[in-house]
Amino acid sequence: MAGVLVFGDAPRGRLTRTSLEVATAARGLAESLGEPLVGGLIGSGIEGAATELLAGGMTRLFTVDDGRYEPYVGEEYVAAGEAVVRACSPSVALFPHTLNTREWVPRLAARLQTGLTTDCTRLSVEGSRAVMTKPVYGGSVLAEYVVHGTPQMATVRAGSQTATPTAPAGRLERLEAPRAPSRVTVLEEVAEASGSGPRLKDARVVVAGGLGVGREHWHLVEDLAAALGGAVGATRAVTDLGWVPSAYQVGLTGTSVAPDLYVAIGISGAVQHIAGITAARTIVAINKDAQANIFTMARYGAIGDAQAIVPAFLERLKQLRS
Ligand SMILES: Cc1cc2nc3c(=O)[nH]c(=O)nc-3n(C[C@H](O)[C@H](O)[C@H](O)COP(=O)(O)OP(=O)(O)OC[C@H]3O[C@@H](n4cnc5c(N)ncnc54)[C@H](O)[C@@H]3O)c2cc1C
Repeated sequence: MAGVLVFGDAPRGRLTRTSLEVATAARGLAESLGEPLVGGLIGSGIEGAATELLAGGMTRLFTVDDGRYEPYVGEEYVAAGEAVVRACSPSVALFPHTLNTREWVPRLAARLQTGLTTDCTRLSVEGSRAVMTKPVYGGSVLAEYVVHGTPQMATVRAGSQTATPTAPAGRLERLEAPRAPSRVTVLEEVAEASGSGPRLKDARVVVAGGLGVGREHWHLVEDLAAALGGAVGATRAVTDLGWVPSAYQVGLTGTSVAPDLYVAIGISGAVQHIAGITAARTIVAINKDAQANIFTMARYGAIGDAQAIVPAFLERLKQLRS
């Protein structure tokens, strides 16, 4: 049996926005290859999320639903992923690129003795093979890969695809996966303090600050994020200094974001930072140095002191809304 298999992601039973984006990309591949689209979802209490994921257009969606998948343990996901792959023997298998899939999907590829391209931003078909494109060297080069082995596996970057849901017509099929002999026991989960805004990865608006904001004025970044209903991000220089937790870091060694709007305040635009925002749709930069590299990426720029510009902008927002 062949087909394109796409996995969704439903932490705590809630389907992520990226799942339908990746499903849409998978549907395009399946159409080009002339193969059926099949889905997979692993988690605990995921029936609602699975029904939602059917809008991706798959004919069958395998669910592996059990309490042991929450909290996440890599070994269990590898065993469940293997069960789904063996149930449908796909030619291509796609996954959203997340912190968890970064761990368990390479292990699954090794177990299936096939290849994997991680963090792809574009997928296409040449002949009967999937071509997987991803930015390398800090985003300065786009590299194309083909995978030798079956299934051809790839993880897909959040925000790199546009979700276009269809009327769900497929059916759910529940699978049991063998229990993995785990060497890991989760003793406790401690939620990271992340404020009340949306998660950085899924946010449609991100307001990020760099060293130019200054520690004592950091509240300006948070105030603007709150006013725009966005998430707060930061450069590595800021997280290294401990102004905010490292989970806020955007960039090559932090989170890659893909919001509709990215506001960069007091950020120089180092190549490692830019690598994390290439999928942002509109970038607005505020920087007092007109030569700052961030302006080469920005659609709109304000040259000047953030301490003057951000409060003025907040004031104007307040006026417009009152
Ligand atoms: C291997 C490696 C991985 C890395 N990974 C990452 C990563 O993932 N993410 C990341 O961000 N960085 C990363 N870095 C660090 C990166 O190279 C830069 O050092 C960092 O991004 C710079 O942060 P910044 O823009 O806050 O600071 P700076 O480069 O110091 O820039 C501060 C900016 O603020 C402006 N400014 C100053 N005062 C004001 C003011 N009052 N109003 C307005 N503007 C003002 C200045 O003109 C300047 O442009 C990495 C580096 C290495 C070597």
